[in-house]
Amino acid sequence: MSLTAIRNADGTKVEARNVRKAGGPYHCQGCGEVLTLKKGRVVVHHFAHRPPVTCGWGLGESAEHYDAKMAIFDALCTDPAVSDVRLEAPVGDIAVADVLALIRSQWVAIEVQRSELTAAQIARRTANYHAMGVSVLWVALPCPGLAHERYSPSVWEKWVHYAYFGRIYYWTHGQVVTPYHMDEHALYMEPRRWFDVGNLRYGGGYERRSRRWRTPLKGAPVVIGSHFQARRCAGRNTKTMAVPACTLYIDRQPAWWTAA
Ligand SMILES: [Zn+2]
Repeated sequence: MSLTAIRNADGTKVEARNVRKAGGPYHCQGCGEVLTLKKGRVVVHHFAHRPPVTCGWGLGESAEHYDAKMAIFDALCTDPAVSDVRLEAPVGDIAVADVLALIRSQWVAIEVQRSELTAAQIARRTANYHAMGVSVLWVALPCPGLAHERYSPSVWEKWVHYAYFGRIYYWTHGQVVTPYHMDEHALYMEPRRWFDVGNLRYGGGYERRSRRWRTPLKGAPVVIGSHFQARRCAGRNTKTMAVPACTLYIDRQPAWWTAA
């Protein structure tokens, strides 16, 4: 599924919301197959491949994903700092940016979270943008769990958090995103005592760092067209994660989670 397609008649890229079936046929920018225009009352207007689907374009995109990328696109279209903006734009060989924008002479690819992307695939796409001179902003879909005092981030979120030096951007509305820092989460081990071969033993009564849980700490909401800058970073890795050399689009607010 995708929000855009190429109109056979004139080779123009069109948005599903702006065209009618009668104006077709339309085909996929990725594989060239004919697409069906779906004018939905529940799901946003979109184009769909006919089964069996073998094309990777728009794979695994949810209704929330469509809403977020359409809203980001629409908001950037009206921002005077943005001189060019495109929806579902190919960049290099392997990536289709959900939204590609030229913001104060910097090309920025905005990628809305797709849960099925592996860490290796996210890293590859990030490296691809870097090679093309494009900075990248990965945007997570809003999640009710963030309001709780503990949160268990997905692999995708962990990768983004590491790559962006402790920030994950959650889409909020229009081109506004809210950054969260995932702080360490302390688990209190209840004091307890037990008998072990006749000897009384004591345990607990202390805190330990949770492996699974993090404490989400909210930063100030930021506007993509105003509060971000491109930052070139060398590749780095931990035991479990690898971030390639990349150009990140990252907001300028100082770290809000440090006690300083
Ligand atoms: Zn296709």
